[in-house]
Amino acid sequence: MQLTNRSKQVSNKEMTLMERAYLPAIATGLAITIKHFFSKKVTIQYPEVKRYLGPVFRGRHILKRDEDGRERCTACGLCAVACPAEAIQIVAAEREKGEEKLYREEKYAAVYEVNMLRCIFCGLCEEACPKQAVYLRHDEFIPVFTERDQVIWGKDLLVEDMTNRYTREAWTKEEAHALDAKRASGEVTNVVPRAIP
Ligand code: SF4
Ligand code: SF4
Repeated sequence: MQLTNRSKQVSNKEMTLMERAYLPAIATGLAITIKHFFSKKVTIQYPEVKRYLGPVFRGRHILKRDEDGRERCTACGLCAVACPAEAIQIVAAEREKGEEKLYREEKYAAVYEVNMLRCIFCGLCEEACPKQAVYLRHDEFIPVFTERDQVIWGKDLLVEDMTNRYTREAWTKEEAHALDAKRASGEVTNVVPRAIP
């Protein structure tokens, strides 16, 4: 009974002199090596060179501001509840009169901290947020810690800098998938990153 169509008839014929010297096999191996030597490298000189990881890669957290520079977070706590690692700590405060230019909603996060040692970069906080306030950057990793006090990231490190706004090509998975499909079909080749509206 034949179990596979990949079986081969084994030949018992005598090897030729060339075959016994393994020269054809060595030449074939060398040809493969030379071919790869001149082909495009798949490796990069990390960390000097960094690979583009895609529009929704999950790196370091950022607390977004709106187009007027106001913090979007309303301290609802949904991201902290969704976080499986219990890495987010929030202390809510009420917006005072005159602070309308700082905070978009009447309630804001006076303290917003992420414990980067606990965080597993799952992105559930991003998905849970109803205000499009918290995102995980696609272009930046968390740096390596050398001190204990570098582990907790507060608002000083998380809130977006309006002079250097974080932009990306796609803000949702759906947008990213649609973009990938358009790139694959050749419909688009270059997309300009934009700030979230
Ligand atoms: S990425 Fe995941 S683990 Fe990290 S803070 Fe957000 S929900 Fe928590
Ligand atoms: S980041 Fe979003 S989900 Fe988290 S507290 Fe702020 S508004 Fe709520």
